[in-house]
Amino acid sequence: MAETIFSKIIKREIPADIVYETDTVLAFRDINPQAPVHILIIPKIEIPKVTEIDGKKHSQLLGDLFDAANKLAKEMKIEKDGFRLVLNCGDNGGQEVYHLHMHLLGGRQMKWPPG
Ligand code: 5GP
Repeated sequence: MAETIFSKIIKREIPADIVYETDTVLAFRDINPQAPVHILIIPKIEIPKVTEIDGKKHSQLLGDLFDAANKLAKEMKIEKDGFRLVLNCGDNGGQEVYHLHMHLLGGRQMKWPPG
């Protein structure tokens, strides 16, 4: 699979507003925010999409992604009011960038069902 824009952000080849980083995870603000807080949380390794997650092999990494989401929700002060985590998968899921990412959305009331 071809390298995505997110790999270039990891390598600092293109700029991004990075808000969190560990050895395994990077988080940065979405370029086209859909809520007052809209952060993308990504693994540093290339996993194209949800269907390529192996629960056993990636268990620590999945924990790291959720730890990042919770830490950021606290930092962004959206923890108490609530927030939404979204993983789009494939065409029908609305996935545009084929590097696994979790959207952290908050700072406004979310609606259901999603579009
Ligand atoms: P998807 O639709 O794949 O779940 O979400 C991809 C997200 O990446 C979109 O919300 C889009 O705005 C964001 N995005 C695409 N290109 C860039 C970029 O170069 N920088 C940043 N910060 N976000 C991007």
